[in-house]
Amino acid sequence: MATPDLIYLTIDDGSSTKREETIRVSAEMQLEEVRSAFYAAANLSSSSTNSVLKLYRKDGVLLPIGPNTPRNSKEDRYILKSRTGNEGVDALNAVSDLLGQITAIKEKVDAMKRSISEVPDGHGAKHNPDELTPPNLLARRRPTLPSLPPQRTFTRDVTEHLKHPTFDVWQWQDDEMVDLLAHMFTELGLMTEFKLDEETLRRFLQCVKGSYNTNPFHNFRHCFCVAQMMYGILHVTNLHAQLQPLEKLVLLISCIGHDLDHPGFNNAYQVNASTELGLIYNDISPLENHHAAVLFTILKESDTNILRSLPANDYREARKQIIACVLATDMAKHGELMGRFKAGAEREGGYDMTDPAARSLLLQMVIKCADISNEVRPKHVSEPWVDNLLEEFFAQSDREKAEGLPFAPFMDRQKVTKASAQVGFIQFVLIPLFELVAKVLPNMEEPIIQPIRSALQYYKTLA
Ligand code: 5GP
Ligand code: MN
Repeated sequence: MATPDLIYLTIDDGSSTKREETIRVSAEMQLEEVRSAFYAAANLSSSSTNSVLKLYRKDGVLLPIGPNTPRNSKEDRYILKSRTGNEGVDALNAVSDLLGQITAIKEKVDAMKRSISEVPDGHGAKHNPDELTPPNLLARRRPTLPSLPPQRTFTRDVTEHLKHPTFDVWQWQDDEMVDLLAHMFTELGLMTEFKLDEETLRRFLQCVKGSYNTNPFHNFRHCFCVAQMMYGILHVTNLHAQLQPLEKLVLLISCIGHDLDHPGFNNAYQVNASTELGLIYNDISPLENHHAAVLFTILKESDTNILRSLPANDYREARKQIIACVLATDMAKHGELMGRFKAGAEREGGYDMTDPAARSLLLQMVIKCADISNEVRPKHVSEPWVDNLLEEFFAQSDREKAEGLPFAPFMDRQKVTKASAQVGFIQFVLIPLFELVAKVLPNMEEPIIQPIRSALQYYKTLA
């Protein structure tokens, strides 16, 4: 059993000798304190600008360095690779990384060849969609399902609060969030409307939970936050009374699935590093395409297919709209979606809710709002999310620097502060987005836009 606060490391500084170190990390520590502990273990100064640390699991998966670094055991030490500005060491490390990647790719191709040759061709044979896809992607798409834990019930106080943006998303364990999500299906009337099976829903949600990674930001709690904020927006604006049941089902499933299996590195990284996702999706929204594909892989298995009971037409429509919603969360589409929605919002006679395309666009704007809505929440709920986002950003730019790839200034630990990150994002993204949506949905000002303005003031003062 791992001791909760210890992290066991093998230090690899590029020399032939490897050292073992143990460091103590607690969830209460600041990111900088944790980083200093890792740097000290590597015999480096954390203020050194020409040294980079990378933390790997034994299977080569890169881990975030911070208070949320998953704890391990002595038997399962992480490898802490240190690199300095010394070009010789960099080149050596780059070659060893590359060799590792080539071996991993070769193993995947071999396994894929094996599985293709094993696919049965007779009619009626159970077709396993996993067999045609590289195994590492698939293994992560469909985790083994544990037996279902007993379902909790919540007090009326909790379920009423759940409908509001002030809900405290930090006080719930993963399984409690699963049950709160299940409650949303029931409360929105989706269980009865579509005759959804309760056990299937809970297995689906457990499977979703297991298919989010433990990234600092893009994790299952973020998924819960997005679904909860969407649910809050539906209630405070009374949009739930205007939407058809299928549209509510689409929104809830899209929010739940929208960042599935996020690797913690954004689209720019997927493209610049020519990752497997970049290659599979030809650099076109690789992550969002992957999230949607993982979601529908879970929905393809009958024991987790909550859409099983839908008539074929409804299923087709739901799938089309869910894909559109998940793809709309790619911020590269932000300008285009804002432009299209602005035209609809400023239309003479008001937003055209009789036009199916306009209704679909509204759903996409609602999920976009929910996706980036942390600053709508009270400060004690929202602020840890900024730390987590920056932790993920910094880990990405560290890796990009180490791999000689381009890196964005907004991810660079030398340039970004919490205040600078939030002031720009709130002013140029959040306020224009929420103000535009408020032209179509009522009652956004007090519960949703005011808190964003307060957050802007807070971060301006901090700056
Ligand atoms: P995602 O779909 O990745 O969860 O959200 C879209 C992107 O919006 C995030 O990856 C991140 O780049 C950006 N974003 C969301 N919330 C915030 C925030 O509070 N501050 C900043 N600076 N960026 C954010
Ligand atoms: Mn997201």
